[in-house]
Amino acid sequence: MSLRDDLLTDIAAAEAELVSLFQGFVQVPTANPPGDTRAGAAYLARFLEANGLPFRTVAPMPDMPNLLGSFDCGAPGRHLVLNGHIDVFPPGDDARWRHASAWSGAIEDGRLYGRGSADMKCGTIASCAAYRLLYRHRDRLAGRVTLTAVSDEETGGRWGTFYLFEHHGEEMRGDCCLNGEPSSAHTVRYGEKMPLWLVFTIKTRGAHGAYVHLSESATKLGIRLMQRLEELTEIAPETPASVARNLADPAVRAALESGLGAGAADLVGRVTLNIGMAEGGLKTNMIPSECRIEADIRLPVGVTKYRVRDKVNAILQEFPQATVSEQSDPADTAASWCDPEGEMLHLIQDAAEQVTGLRPVPVITLAATDARFWRREKIPAYIYGCSPDRMGTYDESVGIAEFLNVVRVHALAAAAYLGERR
Ligand SMILES: [Zn+2]
Repeated sequence: MSLRDDLLTDIAAAEAELVSLFQGFVQVPTANPPGDTRAGAAYLARFLEANGLPFRTVAPMPDMPNLLGSFDCGAPGRHLVLNGHIDVFPPGDDARWRHASAWSGAIEDGRLYGRGSADMKCGTIASCAAYRLLYRHRDRLAGRVTLTAVSDEETGGRWGTFYLFEHHGEEMRGDCCLNGEPSSAHTVRYGEKMPLWLVFTIKTRGAHGAYVHLSESATKLGIRLMQRLEELTEIAPETPASVARNLADPAVRAALESGLGAGAADLVGRVTLNIGMAEGGLKTNMIPSECRIEADIRLPVGVTKYRVRDKVNAILQEFPQATVSEQSDPADTAASWCDPEGEMLHLIQDAAEQVTGLRPVPVITLAATDARFWRREKIPAYIYGCSPDRMGTYDESVGIAEFLNVVRVHALAAAAYLGERR
């Protein structure tokens, strides 16, 4: 039998075990914040240990352990890194979940419920399952496989993926990364916009509210500044040809709009501005002496942070009372993306089409993931996972069939990338 058939046969034989592995993982609370993911990491470690798979625990923060493991296949070749996270969003109010709690792992009508089931315990289990399958068949494969299951993704990755790159770079870098964050069966994600968070502070002398001749109003200046910041959305991206082709593709636009709502296809390629917070003033009859504005700017491929900062600085020339500081990750300077026509992307498409009958289209997404750490180092990183439509909501859930398909697609795409030993 072909390797592909053997992988699918192995998955078919392990279906019940995989579902129960996924269910058990969802049942372990790993909310971040607060971020204590020890039980979640221990759960995965037991699975890896029981299957004799190579791994170790790396825990720079004792309550946020990461699992890291690698093995070589039967011949030299390329290095594929599988990446998933253990931590999940906070559960919210248990009473608002349809089952006993956010961590029920209940299965109802073919769906598995629980906080983090979609984002991204489905994908992390798919990585672990693929790791086991590739290990089992390693003598028939070429190259090297690394598994990374991290904590601290939801809070920026400092003690998770970022830390592993800093301290175990050789194992992390690899030639390609495959990640099972939610994508839906309709899309595979090759990039994400960059969040640029700027905080503006405007200070004036202030005065009694009747004495408007004595001081400018910080809030009125703030309103004018907010209006001027809209100009940032007119910055024209210098879009690389491959991304421009992707963004113009009608199938891609349709997939984005069906997944994210009408209007989303245009936003992917544009700078957007959200004024998330604006506050100022102490009392009705006082002229405000301070106004604080928090802007959430999202950069598409082809607009660097520096271009936006130049434009911001030009606008601030007219507002000498204002200062600005950056709140987003200083290491991010542009949107994170890799080749929308890359080899692994096609292998994921092929695998998905074989498994689900749907050929997912390559898209850029609006939210950030750990995949950016690989792309920052020019390593292609692609995301294929379950539907994102219920992530972060009450009754977050994943279809069992969908979960098993994600496992199949990861295993087949990974094996195809590594290639059969010659
Ligand atoms: Zn996630």
